[in-house]
Amino acid sequence: MFPRFSIGESLLPQSMEYLEQAGMLRAVEEGGFQLKDGAAFGRGEQYTEFDFSEKHSPGWSTTYQVPRARFDHLLAREAERQGAAVRYRHEVIGVDFSGERPWIEVKDRDGETYTIEAGFILDASGFGRVLSRLLQLESPSNFPVRGAIFTHIEDHISAANFDRNKILITVHPAHDDLWYWLIPFADGRASLGVVGKTSDLIQPSGREIEKLQSLVRQAPSLQRLLARARWDTPARKLIGYSANVRALCGPGYALLGNAGEFLGPIFSSGVTIAFKSSSLAAATLERQFRGEKVDWIADFAAPLKRGVDTFRAFVESWYRGGFQRIIFYAKPPPDIRRMISAILAGYAWDETNPYVRDTERRLAALEELCCER
Ligand SMILES: Cc1cc2nc3c(=O)[nH]c(=O)nc-3n(C[C@H](O)[C@H](O)[C@H](O)COP(=O)(O)OP(=O)(O)OC[C@H]3O[C@@H](n4cnc5c(N)ncnc54)[C@H](O)[C@@H]3O)c2cc1C
Repeated sequence: MFPRFSIGESLLPQSMEYLEQAGMLRAVEEGGFQLKDGAAFGRGEQYTEFDFSEKHSPGWSTTYQVPRARFDHLLAREAERQGAAVRYRHEVIGVDFSGERPWIEVKDRDGETYTIEAGFILDASGFGRVLSRLLQLESPSNFPVRGAIFTHIEDHISAANFDRNKILITVHPAHDDLWYWLIPFADGRASLGVVGKTSDLIQPSGREIEKLQSLVRQAPSLQRLLARARWDTPARKLIGYSANVRALCGPGYALLGNAGEFLGPIFSSGVTIAFKSSSLAAATLERQFRGEKVDWIADFAAPLKRGVDTFRAFVESWYRGGFQRIIFYAKPPPDIRRMISAILAGYAWDETNPYVRDTERRLAALEELCCER
């Protein structure tokens, strides 16, 4: 049912290109969302921020921080305005690829089922992961099981140096792999969450919100910032969100966004990857329906994977502590900082960036260079 809550509220500037391609940019720009122009990181008393206007790659340097209930509904309405049929509260419960063309089975809001024959199926079911479940495409994620507890608050942040135009990532002072996000919205509210290993998030008794509050108290800089916050919304918990599949496409179908792979939330890359996958799939499908010969692996999966692998290397570097050393390093060469800023802005497909072209080697070398803390 829309509007409905979804997690994933901090967009990356790269995603603006795809909103523009989809003809939805104006609606988003007029949506009254909180501007985002960079990312800030805190650890203990250390603080650093990346301004996306200072980035290696050309393209958008700003985007938005969006309550997804309203943002997703706005995009769905835009799709309808452009002619798409959107069926709210209809659930795909089965697929059949045995014939010449695939069929899907759908349950409507009254529990009645019906079938649709399709020329091609694009699965954008996110954590629902419809096709990967029904076609047994799931494969284990390379990442250890992590989880998140999160909520929305009335933040009442009065610190003069707090920048609402940036997501704030705070690293737990004692545990490098436990971190918090604070994503301010336009209306004085904010999304607040903590990510960690499952064992860090266990709450033997009491409510999730109490666990979140107790973890926030462990990060003094964040606790100070949120000293006057009103905690008015129950917290949610999501465990084991990382996912992978054996194949992103097959005869008659392709998997978009989280229905394929999900790396984790640290670089806010989820929506950008979902948009990129849609953009590649739409272009490939358009050519296919025009009668051109297309190769879904070469035209869709491989180019998508290029940027996903860039993000993956950065996520891995974050959790082994290397990327944290890089961003808090006191004397970063400005050109390298611009290249890193471009990745943080989502430009993970820009082959002119050495950190895209040669991600693992470059990152490993930079981690070495930034070894002094
Ligand atoms: C803790 C956490 C924090 C995150 N933070 C960020 C962030 O700051 N920025 C960011 O870009 N990303 C973030 N993400 C990732 C983000 O949530 C997703 O990558 C993003 O929503 C894109 O997903 P999607 O479009 O593939 O799927 P979704 O947004 O999940 O949409 C899938 C849709 O499919 C529908 N659906 C599911 N099953 C069925 C079915 N059987 N039949 C019909 N419809 C169905 C669902 O109802 C839903 O509407 C975060 C993720 C997590 C877990």
